[in-house]
Amino acid sequence: MATSGSDAGGIVWADGLCKKYGKTEALSQLSFSVDEGEIYSIIGPDGAGKTTLFRILTTLLLPDEGKAGVDGLDVVADYRDIRRRIGYMPGRFSLYQDLSVEENLKFFASVFNTTVEENYALVADIYRQIEPFKDRRAGKLSGGMKQKLALCCALIHAPRVLFLDEPTTGVDPVSRREFWTMLKKLRDEHGLTVLVSTPYMDEASWCDRISLMQGGRFMQTDTPVGIVEAYADRLFAVMAADMHGLMTGLKACPLVATSFSFGAAYHVTLVPGATPDALRSWLTAKGYAEVGITEISPSVEDCFMALMKTSEK
Ligand code: ADP
Repeated sequence: MATSGSDAGGIVWADGLCKKYGKTEALSQLSFSVDEGEIYSIIGPDGAGKTTLFRILTTLLLPDEGKAGVDGLDVVADYRDIRRRIGYMPGRFSLYQDLSVEENLKFFASVFNTTVEENYALVADIYRQIEPFKDRRAGKLSGGMKQKLALCCALIHAPRVLFLDEPTTGVDPVSRREFWTMLKKLRDEHGLTVLVSTPYMDEASWCDRISLMQGGRFMQTDTPVGIVEAYADRLFAVMAADMHGLMTGLKACPLVATSFSFGAAYHVTLVPGATPDALRSWLTAKGYAEVGITEISPSVEDCFMALMKTSEK
């Protein structure tokens, strides 16, 4: 029975969540709400607080303050009922390494008093890809295969909401893409709500909405397009013959507001009134050769860096 109701209106919501480990504030007054059928991603680096949040939402950890709910139930009062309605794929261990693919799946089904056959339709597409290895021990599977099996195991009791904590960390780019395609299909064909955490900013485009997380807070929540559109500055990719030395030049330049290393270039914003031509002249006068400055569109990572800078002030 629902004891809390969802004031925030979403199938998953949190209101003023706080969690400390000693002096470390892992979650700080965190509030948000996820709509039914959304693919919602929490993106942030190591230590941002993603696992702590997921462990509270999946009823494995108690918050110090605040409230949260899943599917109309309270994470503290209704923890038993919530566990039946959610699938949780934790970041690290979730499979029994010594059990075969098939045994793992049967085991997870039995925990929820169901059978693989009963909910097979939900996992059929994914299971077909690992079926050739069904007798292999989980510990002997490749990263991508392990991830698919873990997803099947998290789905086998037909949950309403899926929580995936860094499911693509350490997985090769092709398997990562396949994984996101599977999540989209699960949402489209079975109406599942999916919460995913990831440190990879380039995965934002797969999601309906994202929250950029750092230091136990959400710095910004929006659609991936909305996040990028809210970027306020002009952004430039700057290169020179001596890329290593260029960083020193950019840090010393009074025309530069921010500069970060991004792949083969530095991404740079300028102080008010400064122009790219002025930057080029300044760098050239300092002896940098082959200076190239191109205005570029920001990525989610650029937005993240800009938000970090703002929150540092
Ligand atoms: P993420 O999943 O984004 O890497 P975590 O939720 O694991 O973030 O961690 C958030 C912060 O809380 C980090 O500073 C981490 O070191 C700290 N932390 C997490 N779990 C514990 C714990 N059991 N004991 C002490 N500190 C912890």
